[in-house]
Amino acid sequence: MKIRWAGVLFLLSSALVGFIVAPVYFYRHPLAAFDVALFLLYVVATLMAITVGYHRLYSHAAFRAHAIVRFLCLFFGAASFQQSALRWASLHRTHHRYVDTERDPYNIKRGFFYAHVGWVILRKPVIDYDNALDLQKDGMLTHQHRHYQLWALGAGVVLPLFLGALAGRLIETFLLTIAARLAVVHHCTFFINSFAHTFGTADYDPHSSAKDNWIGALLTNGEGYHNFHHRFPSDYRNGIRWYHWDPTKWLIRALSWVGLTSELRLTPAASIEQARAETRALRASKKI
Ligand SMILES: [Zn+2]
Ligand SMILES: [Zn+2]
Repeated sequence: MKIRWAGVLFLLSSALVGFIVAPVYFYRHPLAAFDVALFLLYVVATLMAITVGYHRLYSHAAFRAHAIVRFLCLFFGAASFQQSALRWASLHRTHHRYVDTERDPYNIKRGFFYAHVGWVILRKPVIDYDNALDLQKDGMLTHQHRHYQLWALGAGVVLPLFLGALAGRLIETFLLTIAARLAVVHHCTFFINSFAHTFGTADYDPHSSAKDNWIGALLTNGEGYHNFHHRFPSDYRNGIRWYHWDPTKWLIRALSWVGLTSELRLTPAASIEQARAETRALRASKKI
């Protein structure tokens, strides 16, 4: 299997700078409120852009979104350095369709490491854009795909450095808002494919490796109720109870109150109960 050295270098250098160089630097140079505020803003914005935008909106069409929301998802999604929304959504649709098989791009059967990050650095996935023809009609989305490097550098590097320079905190911004933030957001997102396919319960689809787990939900911005999600992927929620930690769901719902999202798709309660009952019956008959 070929190692993609550019990917290894990028992931390792952001983690080394963010998790080792940054703490050493801040041991001698005190943190300012600006450093923490910009870091948190970028963590939340880029994680939400992936879970609200790349995942639930573009991959699963779980709701409709106003152009402002779509722009913000594409802008901060590019800033997370996880490729274009079109590429991400197409790969993710392949994951759902062929989950746990050789054609699953982040197949957990190849091991936790492979599903987490190995697939990014060990082989170049073959992408079938034919499964995302609907997305290719969206001009803003295809612009982000065609000019991805420009979007990613502008949103993820140039804008934070510009803000950092204005505040006189250029080095601090580079260490925290670029390096540490990239490493944190990368691994939180990667946990959806590794942790959420390993630990937890399977009450909706016992044949899938996807699992429901509140710790996974904490790590992945609400995507940890992954067994439910694989059974009902077009539901805008992953955690269906009000107390389930699913900030992605809460943001989509809150945006609908001001008209920025609409047509939020909900699975009928009867279908959810039927899936649970089928799983219970299979377990009782010891077929799984
Ligand atoms: Zn999955
Ligand atoms: Zn999904």
